[in-house]
Amino acid sequence: MKQESNLRKGMKVNFNQPYLEGGEKDYVMDATMTGHLSGHGKYTKLCHQWFEKRYRIPKSLLTTSCSDALELAALLLDIRSGDEVIVPSFTFVSTANAFVLRGAKIVFADVREDIPILDTEKLEELITDRTRAIVPVHYAGIACEMDKILALAEKYDLFVVEDAAHAIESSYGNKQLGTIGNLGAFSFHETKNVICGEGGLISINDERFEKRAEILWEKGTDRAAFHRGEVKKYQWVDVGSSFLPSDLIAALLYGQLLKVDRIQEMRLNIWQQYYERLEPLAEAGKIQLPVIPEWATNNGHMFYLVTGSPAERDSLLKYLNKKGVMAVIHYLQLHSSKYFADKHDGRELPNTDRFSDCLIRLPFFNRLNVEQMDYVVKHIFRFYR
Ligand SMILES: *Cc1c(COP(=O)(O)O)cnc(C)c1O
Repeated sequence: MKQESNLRKGMKVNFNQPYLEGGEKDYVMDATMTGHLSGHGKYTKLCHQWFEKRYRIPKSLLTTSCSDALELAALLLDIRSGDEVIVPSFTFVSTANAFVLRGAKIVFADVREDIPILDTEKLEELITDRTRAIVPVHYAGIACEMDKILALAEKYDLFVVEDAAHAIESSYGNKQLGTIGNLGAFSFHETKNVICGEGGLISINDERFEKRAEILWEKGTDRAAFHRGEVKKYQWVDVGSSFLPSDLIAALLYGQLLKVDRIQEMRLNIWQQYYERLEPLAEAGKIQLPVIPEWATNNGHMFYLVTGSPAERDSLLKYLNKKGVMAVIHYLQLHSSKYFADKHDGRELPNTDRFSDCLIRLPFFNRLNVEQMDYVVKHIFRFYR
């Protein structure tokens, strides 16, 4: 008993722990041996095929990150100085940065009261004659209300770029997230469901962008067309950058994609167990648990809880961290960040503030085991005792 308590005392549950699911190493080795180490090799093409087939999209392009995919999206939309782009304030900095880099003015939108995704009731009032795009973020893989967003986009002639960084294998109705707007961006950062260290993908759902996307992706050249034998020489035809990752990265990603069903099964199981174990605390009114609305699916990207007040969040976090449970806060609101505060128009975004101040993300990774989960949950219960 004494020994056990000492053991427990020393227990540490990391926030994230990236896992290979088997096979990745072989593909990376194969990519190394075939001699094509740069981008757009065999494994890049296999990854593109995987996405295009599974998600029924006309074209996809691997990028070095989701940030990069969003930057490519901003270039494709030809976002310029003075254009306005509507982005939730409750998101990762890259969602906004991609458009700031093109000179856009970011108009931060609030999220819903019950779920930290765009509040579509308050979206229309943000649209002006300078608005060019709306960027819904499917937080925790929970779908934004895409029908309402698409209807507004149609009405005001706007583009929709989905930040689907969290949203692989999750859908709105029967449509995979990231494939519904004109463009979608995915992430394979080591904290996401399917990983390759750093990596991303842009989904080109609007065929008007297909040709140009490939050119911007290949440094502004028509090299991709050249490799298909469509042009004799490749040359500089547009702006662009090096958005494509090495085929070694693509090989690792391909290995993960082949295991996606297994990864999803493990993650959904962990999510479900957290939910069931913490439910009594939610029923007692101590914490709020994630809500999956009827239009959305759960993809086990993360598990979060929301406390009753900022002070309570801070002390719960401190308590858990002291016990070796590496829970974290998520998303300091962007509208009042150091970079943006003096650029914000002063609107209050109360739901964003509440989630920023009261949300905690619990340790979550494919192999989180029962002992680790018990330990995390036990300490949350102890805090509220
Ligand atoms: C992780 C993340 C990104 C950035 O992804 P990278 O691949 O790290 O560039 C963008 N948006 C959201 C919502 C994210 O969570």
